[in-house]
Amino acid sequence: MGRTYLFECPRCEYRVAVAGGVEQGLLCQVQTFRCRDCSTLLDVPVRVRVTDREGPGPGRPEALQDQLRRRFTNWHLRLPIGAAARDRWVVLKPCCPVSPIHRIEPWTHPGRCPRCEVHLDRTVMPYRIWE
Ligand SMILES: [Zn+2]
Ligand SMILES: [Zn+2]
Repeated sequence: MGRTYLFECPRCEYRVAVAGGVEQGLLCQVQTFRCRDCSTLLDVPVRVRVTDREGPGPGRPEALQDQLRRRFTNWHLRLPIGAAARDRWVVLKPCCPVSPIHRIEPWTHPGRCPRCEVHLDRTVMPYRIWE
């Protein structure tokens, strides 16, 4: 189970629902990153689970790409070179969904607002719990 929290900036009213660190679900592991180019926080899939049924056979990295593309529409997913297609968990190279050349860095709670650098407030209860 992964948890998403609501973070709010007391100064500029920036609001975002992210994990605030690393969260592990059944099908993927996400990690919160700050994109310096977008000035936002975002959850990035860093590991995804490939089931045997839908998983590609060995030597078919295109099939794996297709599968990931279906699951994460609009993401610029970058597979590590030589990713073993048979692995149940595939490690992804984290990147911003807007552009793969954006500069992103890990962000963990407690942390600063990506816009005005004030510490963000986090709700106590998870905003959303996902599988
Ligand atoms: Zn702010
Ligand atoms: Zn970005």
